[in-house]
Amino acid sequence: MGKLNVTILRYLTRDDFRVLTAIEMGMKNHELVPASLAAQIANLRYGGVHKLLKELCKHRLLSYERGKHYDGYRLTNSGYDYLALRVLAQRGTVTSFGNQIGIGKESNIYIVANDDGDSVCLKLHRLGRTCFRNIKSKRDYHQHRKSASWLYLSRLSATREYAYMKALYDRGFPIPKPIDLNRHCVVMELVEGGPLCGVYKVDDVGLLYDELMNLIVKLGNHGVIHSDFNEFNIMITNSGKPILIDFPQMISTEHVDAATYFERDVKCVREFFKRRFNYESELYPTFHDISREDCIDVEIKASGLTKQMEKDLLKEIGMIKVEDEETEDECSESASEENRSMDDSEVNYLQLQVENSVKSETFVNAK
Ligand code: ADP
Ligand code: MG
Repeated sequence: MGKLNVTILRYLTRDDFRVLTAIEMGMKNHELVPASLAAQIANLRYGGVHKLLKELCKHRLLSYERGKHYDGYRLTNSGYDYLALRVLAQRGTVTSFGNQIGIGKESNIYIVANDDGDSVCLKLHRLGRTCFRNIKSKRDYHQHRKSASWLYLSRLSATREYAYMKALYDRGFPIPKPIDLNRHCVVMELVEGGPLCGVYKVDDVGLLYDELMNLIVKLGNHGVIHSDFNEFNIMITNSGKPILIDFPQMISTEHVDAATYFERDVKCVREFFKRRFNYESELYPTFHDISREDCIDVEIKASGLTKQMEKDLLKEIGMIKVEDEETEDECSESASEENRSMDDSEVNYLQLQVENSVKSETFVNAK
């Protein structure tokens, strides 16, 4: 795993970020962004885009690649990380970097510190490049369409996780407090403790079992199912309290397979308690036990996540089978390798976006 070196942030100039941002914008419809387009979008007052592109490649924030039809630049994971970290640093939510504490299926987790020196947790979402889940269904799926952009999917996953976390935290659910979001990065409260998978002894096994089952039901009563409710996504604090994490795959209780996912979550807990603590209970909830009272879906929709985005993400992580699709819709921001030329108004629009994103954020060097 590439180590993040935040000190690079200090050496990058405003123009470096302008060019990085231009590549990010260009990637909305180009898999590889030609230098000429980068120059147009970045619209540097004194030119010199080629030199900056070269420098950014040297720092591995961009890479230069030969495509089937033309050559161009794309953002690397690090390049995307720095764009997000710069914003988080300027907001004071991520000021310095600590250790990596997790490499999940679709994320990297770090301990970081904020402006006040408090330790918080940074989760970088990484989707659309390598995925260990549903390799087969993904392969079938990708045969039928162009690959979705990893930038888009990673950002979507983070946005969705943050939206759910906010809605749940506001309702008093035992989850880490969501603190900040930019692009594919979620900053959240750091849980002092460890995942349940590393716990071999608890004071009151029956109580913990009940707490977890009640949590599954309470989520259901708010219209959602966690869908990955297992010993890796339940943290146990130093005082023995369970804290639920990892939300990109949450689904609505209205989902066609809702009952299946609900019952799988319940089964995960039962099997783990039997295996680990030799604890079995007659009592466990079923999908019929839930009553949708205060559904948080409405709030999630209000956060700007469209149905199409929801579909794009759930398809990527294997929660929607390809056969389920009524139409062969394109991903909202699919990356195409065609050198689709942009008209003037499109380029103007992107120039403006770069302008705003560089301007609205106070310069990190000036801090
Ligand atoms: P993934 O989707 O990749 O599984 P998770 O959100 O489950 O990502 O995080 C992976 C691991 O990182 C967890 O199992 C846990 O050990 C650690 N982790 C995640 N969030 C936190 C947090 N807020 N505080 C402490 N550790 C965390
Ligand atoms: Mg996890």
